[in-house]
Amino acid sequence: MLQVNDVSKVYKVGTFGGTQLRAVNGVTFGVGAGEIVSLIGESGSGKSTIGRMILGLSRTTAGTITFEGRDVSTLRRSDLRAYYADVQGVFQDPFSSYNPIFKADRVLTLVKGFFPGIARGEWDAKVEEALQAVRLEPGAVLGKYPHQLSGGQLQRLLVARALLLDIKLLVADEIISMLDASTRIDVLNLLGDLKHRGLGVLFITHDLSLGNYISDRIVILRRGEIVELGATEKVFGDPQHAYTKMLISSVPQLHTKWGPPEATNGDR
Ligand code: ADP
Ligand code: MG
Repeated sequence: MLQVNDVSKVYKVGTFGGTQLRAVNGVTFGVGAGEIVSLIGESGSGKSTIGRMILGLSRTTAGTITFEGRDVSTLRRSDLRAYYADVQGVFQDPFSSYNPIFKADRVLTLVKGFFPGIARGEWDAKVEEALQAVRLEPGAVLGKYPHQLSGGQLQRLLVARALLLDIKLLVADEIISMLDASTRIDVLNLLGDLKHRGLGVLFITHDLSLGNYISDRIVILRRGEIVELGATEKVFGDPQHAYTKMLISSVPQLHTKWGPPEATNGDR
């Protein structure tokens, strides 16, 4: 579905843009339908840059990104619109995705344009269904301003928007870092549900223990380069690269998958 092919990104930095910063270097991986791939690396390793390039918000310096066979980097404005009906991003700071002077549910009405001629009742039913899927009470969020909602509610509203569009791929960049523990588990479980509906997810995180919980495959990024890539069990159970081993050894209880306490306590 999504294929990132030997992609690099060089930023021009310094006062006159005279210095080059290679943020991403020759990165190759893919995300399939119904697959959750975690992109894990320390702060500054290039994760968000990769996410932004996938979302067409930043250009690749080299390499190609294709979605269902189409090169994303060459999409024009009109094509991008169609692309965003399939691929959406949710970011670390959900507040940045909202305009504080508009009601939060505007993020939903803005995508109504994707359904030309839809009847009022049909639209309302779709919105309600999407809100139910992310376990948001319509009365608790509709008609509210962003500052009246919690970070978790705002993020779930963004996921609801993704559902309304019935997207195929979600790029989730550090979406749970700023949430409290119980909301975190809700959002992670939600991603698990969506996966079963066939959604592909690129789950970007700096926290190895979170990637372990939900992902099918893991990509370990270090200074813009992939040092390890493989099935979650393989990468965590039998890490090949010294860097991965180091990261794993610094995370307590990494081999314990989260889940119902009776299923994980004890023998693992
Ligand atoms: P991560 O998300 O893993 O923390 P980023 O992709 O945000 O990493 O950043 C990777 C590197 O690129 C960092 O050194 C960062 O300072 C640099 N960087 C990110 N965005 C820009 C930008 N717009 N201009 C210049 N440098 C940037
Ligand atoms: Mg980042």
